[in-house]
Amino acid sequence: MIHPIQRCTSAGLWNSTLVAAIRRVKRTEMLPIKIQRSFFKQNQYYFTTMSALATERSVAIQAVLQASRVCQSVFQHLVANETLTKNDKSPVTVADFSAQAIINTYLHKAFPNDPIIGEEDSKDLRGDEGKVLREKVHSLTNGVLDDSEKLSEEQILEAIDRGNYVGGPKGRHWALDPIDGTKGFLRGGQYAVCLALIIDGQVQLGVMGTPNLPVDPTKPDGEKGTLFITVRGEGAFQRSFADPTESKIQFSDISTTEEATFCESVEAGHSSHGDAAEIAKLLGITRPSVRMDSQAKYCSISRGDGDIYLRLPTSKTYVEKIWDHASGSLLVHEAGGKVTDVNGKPLDFSIGRTLEANKGVIAANTKIFDRVLESVQKVLGSKL
Ligand code: AMP
Ligand code: MG
Repeated sequence: MIHPIQRCTSAGLWNSTLVAAIRRVKRTEMLPIKIQRSFFKQNQYYFTTMSALATERSVAIQAVLQASRVCQSVFQHLVANETLTKNDKSPVTVADFSAQAIINTYLHKAFPNDPIIGEEDSKDLRGDEGKVLREKVHSLTNGVLDDSEKLSEEQILEAIDRGNYVGGPKGRHWALDPIDGTKGFLRGGQYAVCLALIIDGQVQLGVMGTPNLPVDPTKPDGEKGTLFITVRGEGAFQRSFADPTESKIQFSDISTTEEATFCESVEAGHSSHGDAAEIAKLLGITRPSVRMDSQAKYCSISRGDGDIYLRLPTSKTYVEKIWDHASGSLLVHEAGGKVTDVNGKPLDFSIGRTLEANKGVIAANTKIFDRVLESVQKVLGSKL
């Protein structure tokens, strides 16, 4: 980005002009920026800026890629004793634990002071009962770490438990869902490795690995393994796992809901299919909804594969977790879409590990958003 600043004639003046200009840019754009280069041309001083999160972006990409590759390889070798059932009945696999151990290790090495909110903890890997899983997670995790970085079993458990941060409104922390959509993973469908950086309660960076999502949506049987990357104020991008070239992605540009396609959870227990069908009717949507697990839904609509993602509460008590929405919601925003909860309130990532102040999610392109929200309110009405 090139920002011109006014002409000045002395070095001293140049310095103070530059400082004032940086403050002005930061204030008006509300972006974390760094000065990359400054130069003088045709009686004007200019400076170029780069993202202050360039290092975080690159570390997050490496970490998510490695974790995604481990997930792919586990799926190919998954056997019965490598899954277990957590209290909430969602299956969790060695891949969840390994992905969290790998990403937390990368983050800790690059940013030792950054706390992490991660979905998993090491409880089920400890003691005699956890031995089989622990050994498997140990070998998978070390399989992708450099020789000098190999970890003992105990260090891997520690790495996983580094995800125990409580969150809150101040400072920076990461939010990680090592495998979002474990059910999709187990059935060979969509799942996503999701990492976000939250600063002062606002998501600033998101990287998601979707190993089973086609790189080119027009070629569903073509190359799979897509990485989605976004930094606030810098747009939304995708690349394949294999090739680091990134391309910008954008929401579709439809202006009427009748042309829209819905995207929703496979699991009716996570989002009400019945309410979604009623809302679709009100909006004049005739195309069948596309069902997929995980934040791959946010990724899909952000590149225009679909137009609306609804997460409609199935219970009064369920509270959404920040790791299920942090990276995906920023991707939608940066791709030109809008995300709120079912009451039209922005998602609030400043409270802790959960989205306690919100209920459900609506994501859609900005042109049709208000109509979608209106229909959601009409159908959910007294249920809210
Ligand atoms: P999805 O693949 O979009 O259906 O969402 C998967 C996520 O749903 C998991 O990561 C869980 O954290 C979350 N989840 C579990 N129970 C519920 C529920 N009752 N309502 C909404 N989301 C849930
Ligand atoms: Mg999840």
